[in-house]
Amino acid sequence: MKYNIALLPGDGIGPEIVDGAVRVLKKVGEKYGHEFDFKTYLIGGVAYDATGDPLPKETVDGALASDSVLLGAVGGPKWDSLPGDKRPEKALLGIRSALGLFTNLRPAKLYPALSDACPLKESTVKNGFDIMIVRELTGGIYFGDRGYREGKYGTEAYDTECYSPMEIERIARVAFECAKKRGKKLASIDKANVLETSRLWRKTVHEIAQEYPDVSVCDVLVDNAAMQLVRNPAQFDVIVTSNMFGDILSDEASQITGSIGMLPSASLNETTLGMYEPIHGSAPDIAGKNIANPIATILSAAMMLRYSFNLTEEADCIEKAVDAVLNDGLRTSDIAKPGENTLSTSEMTEAVIERL
Ligand code: NAD
Repeated sequence: MKYNIALLPGDGIGPEIVDGAVRVLKKVGEKYGHEFDFKTYLIGGVAYDATGDPLPKETVDGALASDSVLLGAVGGPKWDSLPGDKRPEKALLGIRSALGLFTNLRPAKLYPALSDACPLKESTVKNGFDIMIVRELTGGIYFGDRGYREGKYGTEAYDTECYSPMEIERIARVAFECAKKRGKKLASIDKANVLETSRLWRKTVHEIAQEYPDVSVCDVLVDNAAMQLVRNPAQFDVIVTSNMFGDILSDEASQITGSIGMLPSASLNETTLGMYEPIHGSAPDIAGKNIANPIATILSAAMMLRYSFNLTEEADCIEKAVDAVLNDGLRTSDIAKPGENTLSTSEMTEAVIERL
């Protein structure tokens, strides 16, 4: 099969880590007889420098014309003082909305080989954990009506949370499908004791649950979910939640893995076109030094194979190669213990390729 992949390396360490993932994909292509065709487009600060726009039209058109998109990261101190609509981060919202990406998948997995990096007690995480957070990405309070108005105590600011049944149904279906392929356990997170949108969320999730009798579903209030994540993370398999709750809980979940350079993400729409990116930023402090950990981006490429191209065996192959690298004790500096030998970005990439 032939697949067209749009590459958006972006700023800081973006080009180095995307290069690593591309090399891994090329090797997977050779091994399994697929042709991956790559086209690179500008995004973020480098796009602003070249064109005056952090998200040039050519980039959006290229992404829309591709089968899938691999993004590095955007942003850096050089562009921090630009006005809001010219800032590199604005390009992220722009590309997500242009591609209609309403689902965000964020795995948070504790690798046994890296359990020392987990900030939780060993007794809490002795069995590891492997959670998939499914976050609604284009609705809720981040996109609702907002502004200032006269209130009880004078001028006040307000934001509004809105969800329609359709928006909840489609994200719930993604989450149930995901749970079906994993541990068949879904936790739906809301604040139904207070919020009307959460009551609609809960009712709608329960309706969709009828279509998935093989998946067990439970409701967890968001404040309890935040506690449970640090008390006993292994109880969770798949979590589904709204935009704002997902934003907060997915960052909490990533922190308890202890290794930001290891975590991939996927953003999906109704079609197979998705955008895949590491959860970390452009790490300007280490950019250009060939020391960034490429694994989050390599695992993002694995998610692309799994979710956009349905190449399960190929995705498994990459994930197993990463497991093998870690089990062999190989580390980049962000995941190494003091005094341990460390590999460069390109050496870590080669180590993964050797184990494919
Ligand atoms: P960051 O994730 O870039 O870096 C935080 C820390 O983690 C830094 O010390 C960095 O060196 C380290 N780190 C991150 N990724 C690493 C990797 N792969 N290997 C080794 N170490 C790694 O977050 P920040 O410093 O808050 O933000 C830097 C810039 O990135 C800002 O301009 C911010 O707006 C932007 N940002 C972009 C995205 C994105 O593109 N999706 C996400 C978050 C932040």
